[in-house]
Amino acid sequence: MSDVLDLNVDVYPFPPKPAALSPAQKQAYRDTIAAQLKQQNAVLVAHYYTDPDIQALAEASGGCVADSLEMARFGSQHPATTLLVAGVRFMGETAKILNPEKRVLMPTLQAECSLDLGCPDEAFAAFCDQHPDRTVVVYANTSAAVKARADWVVTSSIAVELVEHLDSLGQKILWAPDRHLGNYVRKQTGADVLCWQGACIVHDEFKTQALSRMKALHPDAAILVHPESPQAVVEMADAVGSTSQLIQAAQRLPQRKLIVATDRGIFYKMQQACPEKELFEAPTAGEGASCRSCAHCPWMAMNGLQALSEALAQGGEAHEIHVSPALREQALMPLNRMLAFAATLKKPVKGNA
Ligand code: SF4
Repeated sequence: MSDVLDLNVDVYPFPPKPAALSPAQKQAYRDTIAAQLKQQNAVLVAHYYTDPDIQALAEASGGCVADSLEMARFGSQHPATTLLVAGVRFMGETAKILNPEKRVLMPTLQAECSLDLGCPDEAFAAFCDQHPDRTVVVYANTSAAVKARADWVVTSSIAVELVEHLDSLGQKILWAPDRHLGNYVRKQTGADVLCWQGACIVHDEFKTQALSRMKALHPDAAILVHPESPQAVVEMADAVGSTSQLIQAAQRLPQRKLIVATDRGIFYKMQQACPEKELFEAPTAGEGASCRSCAHCPWMAMNGLQALSEALAQGGEAHEIHVSPALREQALMPLNRMLAFAATLKKPVKGNA
């Protein structure tokens, strides 16, 4: 395996979080952004892991809160000519690939993802070249260049079904970039899956020992886990699934207490879906946890109200997503394959981190 991401090394120049705002400042920004969206024929699409203030603004202004593919599809179907994407950079790229005629703005283009960063396109292409007999399946959390090298793009909600399908055709899989999700898919399907060794810095930090202690404190709670988490944590789960699937599980499960192992940003929509339930963050600071350990993505945290307003006011190189037409054409192919496959399952394509 060529590039193994060492998550214990401080390789990421984490940016500072946006400055805290007073209630009056928040309200002023909400009013300003709502007016800017109208003036610019723009719509705000936000990821489940962004700040609750941003999710609430997206809902109140006629935008949406979802995972990246649903964000992009919402953007395609909405008449707005500008998409303001609150999330991390690959989400803006996916939105642009699916909506080339629209202007796609982000609060910051510095909001990365460890899965994307841990899978550089040239090293990944070399890895693929070493395994020409394998079908290349990449997760949505990748750059446009990595998607362009893939046969399929996939989200966590249909990963098992897609790999089952490819396995039934006798195909061997090269999976990237998340090793935990790749291992989960291999275990669920029994397929021959060779994994790139990337990981999400948030989900990789969930700890079994601390989770066991929390479960002992709340024996009547159900455990909900995103499959980007380590296998030992997944094995403790009452429900495993993508962001959207975890929200559905929270509604469906009979337990009134839920311990949730994914980014805590999801609590905003999960609590809306089941207001009578008590939600707990799964612990990350157990033995072996790094100093980075917490249940919130530092790049998602870069999305603040002030930056949203600046993106609309200034646009330009600091905020606008561009994907070259040639790259877009290549990246669109595996994305469209996924959408067509999902249509055969008659289920929505939801569920990246
Ligand atoms: S939570 Fe993990 S997978 Fe999601 S954007 Fe952050 S680093 Fe990437």
